[in-house]
Amino acid sequence: MQPNELNEADRLKWNRSYFEEGCACINVTKVLQPCRTSMPDAEAVEFYERNCSCTRNYIPR
Ligand SMILES: [Zn+2]
Repeated sequence: MQPNELNEADRLKWNRSYFEEGCACINVTKVLQPCRTSMPDAEAVEFYERNCSCTRNYIPR
């Protein structure tokens, strides 16, 4: 594995827990379901980035 790929994997893992632990859509209003743990981090992060509508989302709209 290349160093860049490792960093990307770490980034995805970190971003996933960032959403799952602090996203109000998941933890407060519960309009979002956390992704299954069997889902790859890349897919879960993409899902959260697309569907999170609270201030936790870092994607500009
Ligand atoms: Zn959210």
